[in-house]
Amino acid sequence: MRSVSTARRRALLAVAGLCLSAVFGAAHAAGPLKAVASFSILGDIVREVGGKDVSVATLVGPDGDAHEYEPTPGDAKKLSTAGVLFVNGLDFETWMPRLAKSSGFSGLTVVASKGVTPRKFAEAGEGHGHDGHDHDHDHDHDHGHGHGHGHKDGHHHGDADPHAWQDLSNGVIYARNVAEGLAAADPAHADAYRERAQAYIARLQALDTDVRKTFAAIPAERRKVVTSHDAFGYFGDAYGVAFISAMGMSTDAEPSAGDVARIIEQVKRERVPAVFVENISSPKLVQQIARETGAKVGGTLYSDALSKAGQPGATYLEMFEWNARQLAAALQP
Ligand SMILES: [Zn+2]
Repeated sequence: MRSVSTARRRALLAVAGLCLSAVFGAAHAAGPLKAVASFSILGDIVREVGGKDVSVATLVGPDGDAHEYEPTPGDAKKLSTAGVLFVNGLDFETWMPRLAKSSGFSGLTVVASKGVTPRKFAEAGEGHGHDGHDHDHDHDHDHGHGHGHGHKDGHHHGDADPHAWQDLSNGVIYARNVAEGLAAADPAHADAYRERAQAYIARLQALDTDVRKTFAAIPAERRKVVTSHDAFGYFGDAYGVAFISAMGMSTDAEPSAGDVARIIEQVKRERVPAVFVENISSPKLVQQIARETGAKVGGTLYSDALSKAGQPGATYLEMFEWNARQLAAALQP
């Protein structure tokens, strides 16, 4: 019953909107296109490409963990008036379908990672030293039992690694998808979106070239680090660095004592020079690994979220450059 009356109200509003449009001209005269991005890194890309023609709201903010996110009523409100929604895809935002539905969002949804070659998560023991995962694929998408359901492997809903933005050539794909998404939602400014995307892509590609050179200059046997969760697989593949993650995919599950012992053994055996903390996870575990192995703590990496303004990773380009610099400094012989 409620949906009928909502639909009727919307129809009335739409008619009212048409009348106003007829009086005042194009609907877009009302202001910039309203876009919502699921997390901060993507929000920054939308801001770059959208420029003055788009107002961007980001749901999971700086230093936030999108894997374990619990949407707020404010998020639903932002979505309810948005014309376009940008998501990462690759099963990163498992909470989004439910939120989008409950908010009544009726705009265009754009998957920023569309066209990326998905990376499979590392096999147990090979990268993250975390075996015994219970891969229960696709059992609870669009689930009805609410958030914070505490299942052990957090975002382990699919096989694909969602952290595709950790390779700048994927960032280029994101920027193109964002431009096309904005152009589809707001054709009047399509040229401006594509032009801004081109300029932005040139900056991404220039940094990509720099980062490649930086790591190519470091001896291969030194290019190994430990991080908290398994967020840097794409970075590792693109720039030739082996990442060992202390917690596997998950940002919520505590690794067992056996898992930790295995990682410590691996760090010693492979002479891993440095461990890094992440801005979205607790530093305790990697600090313990550093203590017990003698590896140095290389600093903080921005994995799944930007920093707050005024800190080193406040934009996608800044966070990428910062991560590369921190890693290279720690791995230098
Ligand atoms: Zn992650």
